[in-house]
Amino acid sequence: MSCIEPNSSIAMEPRLPEKTPVDRRNGKHVKANDIPPQGVYLPNNNYLAPHMQSPEYVQLSNAAAITLGIMGGRMHRCECTRCLNLLLTYPEGCRANCAYCGLARHREADRDYADRNFIRVDWPAVPMAEIVDIVAKDPDNSPFHRMCISMITHPRSEQDTFTVLEQWTDKIDPGAIPVSILSNPTTMTREDVQRTRDLGADIFTVALDAATPEVFDRTRGKGVQSPHKWSKYWEILQDAKDIFGPQKFGAHIIVGMGETEYEVLNLVQELVDLGGHSHMFCFFPEQGSLMDHLPATPRDQWRRVQLARYLIDYRGVRVDQMQFDDLGRVKNYGIPDSELSTIIDEGIAFRTSGCPGKFQDDISACDRPYGDSPPSDIASYPFQPKKKDIKKIRKQLDIPVRVE
Ligand code: SF4
Repeated sequence: MSCIEPNSSIAMEPRLPEKTPVDRRNGKHVKANDIPPQGVYLPNNNYLAPHMQSPEYVQLSNAAAITLGIMGGRMHRCECTRCLNLLLTYPEGCRANCAYCGLARHREADRDYADRNFIRVDWPAVPMAEIVDIVAKDPDNSPFHRMCISMITHPRSEQDTFTVLEQWTDKIDPGAIPVSILSNPTTMTREDVQRTRDLGADIFTVALDAATPEVFDRTRGKGVQSPHKWSKYWEILQDAKDIFGPQKFGAHIIVGMGETEYEVLNLVQELVDLGGHSHMFCFFPEQGSLMDHLPATPRDQWRRVQLARYLIDYRGVRVDQMQFDDLGRVKNYGIPDSELSTIIDEGIAFRTSGCPGKFQDDISACDRPYGDSPPSDIASYPFQPKKKDIKKIRKQLDIPVRVE
């Protein structure tokens, strides 16, 4: 099937990375200046970032920093985030070059790693010990339902993930706040996956991101001088399946980078058949990335995929029960209209997808407020959509509001 949508595979071509001047490579100037970090570092592009690194330091999302109380601010229609997302940090940053990602290597030409935007927000750097101390005071009543360590492509990524995980579980019972690992398979072995399990991780996910091998190669492999391989990601995904077991592993997928709706939903089905889950992101042109000139995923396409993915992941509907048009777009969800209508009105299908928290299995702890859209045109709802939101969603789906 081919697609001639505005975000078809032909249209979604990343820019090529430019050459980085030698004195900016590998965080050289940050290391040379060697400014010692002093507590929390708030991203500031006009300042030379201090020399911070994991495992002593991690970066955390603005939403997590606000919820933790180490940064002021408010989030549109959200009180807090339920997931404490941590990101490993180094002056030389991630060594991969994924085209849609704000953390990619090519950005070292103009922005220190600790100052780079990622999924639309800044990531303050904070001493890990400080984070653990705050949460350990009362884990049972913490606003966080889950903690997640995001690995990046770096030679120390595995070892530092183990250390950060140990630091956490030494003081915080993973039964009170479970831990997820968002892995970077390129540098990982099966033993590394096993070790995260042995150290107390609950869920292991693979940031596959691309829905097909072609999109993968173009956006995070050879196409952009990045080291990742589709086959290696699947190898680690299979290891996670064996080691973590059913419902305890999954993959991240970005929707709208040139794949068809059929292709991405077929992948969702494959993951469900293996016993895992898919966590979805709507493509958004991240500023400074190699795809920042390309269109965000059209809302109608995103809503159809969100709804169909929810049906496959949580309602036992199979992709082969659904019908697709010749551009691969969903035209029938494979269940009676009245049932579909009830599921749309429940709104859960349109919330951010990710690892579960303490509410229920199909409600993600990881709500990533406005990580894939501006608040004015929400893609993944970081809260329960209200009536007015459902009305908007139905319009985007082109499914009329039901008249009782
Ligand atoms: S490996 Fe992850 S963090 Fe690094 S550039 Fe790719 S998507 Fe970004």
